[in-house]
Amino acid sequence: MDLLIQGFSSPQFPCVMDLGIEKGIITYLAEHSLLPPEAKQIIAANGNILLPGLVESHIHLDKALLLDQMKSEASTLQEAISETYKLKSGYTKQDMRERAIRIIRSSIAAGVTVMRCQVELDSILEFKAMELMLELKEELRDQIDIQLVAFPQEGIFRQPGTDALMIQSLIRGADVVGGITYNDSDLNEHLHFIFGLADKYNKPIDLHVDFSDDSDQLAILDVIRLTKDYRFQDKVSVGHLTSLGSVKPMQAEKIAESIAKAGIHVMSLPSTELYLNGRADGYRNRRGLTPVPMLLDSGVNVIYGTNNIQNAFTPFGTSDPLDIGLLLAQTCYMGSAKDAEIIIDMATYRGAKALGISNYGLHIGADADLVLCNAKDVRTLLYYRSERLFVWKKGKQVASTSKETIFY
Ligand SMILES: [Zn+2]
Repeated sequence: MDLLIQGFSSPQFPCVMDLGIEKGIITYLAEHSLLPPEAKQIIAANGNILLPGLVESHIHLDKALLLDQMKSEASTLQEAISETYKLKSGYTKQDMRERAIRIIRSSIAAGVTVMRCQVELDSILEFKAMELMLELKEELRDQIDIQLVAFPQEGIFRQPGTDALMIQSLIRGADVVGGITYNDSDLNEHLHFIFGLADKYNKPIDLHVDFSDDSDQLAILDVIRLTKDYRFQDKVSVGHLTSLGSVKPMQAEKIAESIAKAGIHVMSLPSTELYLNGRADGYRNRRGLTPVPMLLDSGVNVIYGTNNIQNAFTPFGTSDPLDIGLLLAQTCYMGSAKDAEIIIDMATYRGAKALGISNYGLHIGADADLVLCNAKDVRTLLYYRSERLFVWKKGKQVASTSKETIFY
């Protein structure tokens, strides 16, 4: 075999394990042995955690790292949208490329091997961002899988020509049909266009849905209905869904059960939601998140994503998914050892399920997308966001990190 990772731990296995890779595939997996099979390269894991590669389920590369260009901060979602819209005409392909590559690189260093990127299509950018992301997807395919969402941030019908840009994106290689339930003239027309398009081109759907604290903003009900009508179970993801957090418990639980039944994945994007939601309350501000523990109890596949990094929507952030996992744990009352396991599961197996990734996981026959972390249990990994010592994409080492502090 090409590589043997010796003596690692994993939340999946009760004992210390060895794993072998050949031609990019996991071909050997057994309890740790002092007499392991021969390999061209051996990495001693020293009991540290080995995970399948992290999944960044929702990120905006084209509008990341804009703090230097911003004239003012945003204090509402609409202000963030319009502040960013003003900057768009100044984006060049080179500037977008440099910002995107910085984020992709630091994501890889954090152990991300699959990323779903929302790419903006509108009358200013037209196809510029999508063209660049299609190039990066191809250029970096040996290092990371990038799924591209054709995302109409400014609405489909408020911005004439966006429908054609979405169709063109799918023909040219975009992977997912995007949408936004709170930024178009007619919700019904918007959703029917998206489901029709996804059906025609046989693509999954990933929507920005109900991003507010308004308990009456429940486009999710239409999304549930259409998911059933189109038989799109397991192929629809919804980001935000924060309005549901303001709905009274009995009604919210019913909706959560319908989401689970329809097989819709929910993506919490807490760094943006905590920053923009809850402000209008004035005092006793709500956190403005989707009700994660309740959705989990109802059987919904809940995951999280980084969403925005250092722009009007979220002036903070790195591209380590575990930063977001920790933020979610801290703000959703998820402090137990079991909760830490769930949070790590959301950035791995649950994320892979939502993104429809096949051949994923620690089992024989899976792609060797792996990350060895400098921690011996998931709680330590999450709380310290320990170094990702080695990252492999299809068996090829794509990053390594080591940190050392010297005390005097
Ligand atoms: Zn987003």
